[in-house]
Amino acid sequence: MMAQLQPPQSYPTRYWHQLDDGRIQCDICPRACKLHEGQQGLCFVRAREHDAIVLTSYGRSSGFCIDPIEKKPLNHFLPGTPVLSFGTAGCNLACKFCQNWDMSKSREMDTLAATAMPQQLAEAARHYGCRSIAFTYNDPVIFHEYAIDVAQACHEVGVKSVAVTAGFMCPEPRQEFYRYMDAANVDLKAFTERFYHKICGAHLAEVLDTLVYLKQETSVWFEITTLLIPGENDSSQELEDMSKWVVEHLGPDVPMHFSAFHPDWKMRDTPHTPPETLTRARNIAMKNGVRYAYTGNVHDSQGGSTWCASCGELLIERDWYRLGRWGLNEHGECRHCGAALPGVFESRPGNWGPRRQPVRIS
Ligand code: SF4
Repeated sequence: MMAQLQPPQSYPTRYWHQLDDGRIQCDICPRACKLHEGQQGLCFVRAREHDAIVLTSYGRSSGFCIDPIEKKPLNHFLPGTPVLSFGTAGCNLACKFCQNWDMSKSREMDTLAATAMPQQLAEAARHYGCRSIAFTYNDPVIFHEYAIDVAQACHEVGVKSVAVTAGFMCPEPRQEFYRYMDAANVDLKAFTERFYHKICGAHLAEVLDTLVYLKQETSVWFEITTLLIPGENDSSQELEDMSKWVVEHLGPDVPMHFSAFHPDWKMRDTPHTPPETLTRARNIAMKNGVRYAYTGNVHDSQGGSTWCASCGELLIERDWYRLGRWGLNEHGECRHCGAALPGVFESRPGNWGPRRQPVRIS
């Protein structure tokens, strides 16, 4: 059968229900948008049309780029390999510090100038030698059906799928979504309800639910990222609470990334994160039992490299997104003491390097 190459204007969805007052509620994320005919949800890409909720961004993207997998960031998933990255428009959170606001806050379909149906994306990923495809720049939760179809098409050609997400999602679609994901980086944006509510327009509890779900119910490899914003989520107490929760509920082997904020969107008056804040966060996490804690968005080879949790040897050296010394054997174990490094590894690291290469699909 010939693959469809043109994106539909609106794509049918199934996570919604009719309310007694005539509105239709979207059940993809806990925002639970209740829509009259013709209205869009907060994410902008799900809308009510002809008494159903449709996805309006299926097959449309804001552009495609090949990145190192370390940029997602994933440090324990096929290190050194290229990942075809793309996003659409809109978002189901409203973070005042958004670092991708030109896409996620877009209300313009012009942002979605590039089109690519799932088979085209899978073929492009294979053609460029990408080992995985990443749904990133904005949250794939809101383009659920498109992301799943792309992941399935990619699996057919041996390409894995990666979700970069805030984890703010309802249980039923979450279950379906992660059946098709091989890896995820989940933002744990803070560890207070105040931050989630005031700065992101979301709730902490649902994000923690997603993390526990991933750990307990799936085999998806996942890592956690927290963007540390001075004065907002970087207190030692909050970092203590967060890292203790991670070890208690997810175990010591889920990597945590603490990355640097740059002033953006509605938080342009907040200063950059000092490198010492990232180091402090990493130290607190490791003191509390997190075995693999990283600093990100800064030049810090010590904090960006992977060290053996058993013997302390250097396992994967990183300088920004460039890999250096490799201390794993072909089974993903420490060459020095034989301890296995949790994650997804091949016999050798990839050699994509730090390059970022834009690509045209259509
Ligand atoms: S996915 Fe979009 S439309 Fe659905 S509840 Fe969330 S924000 Fe609203």
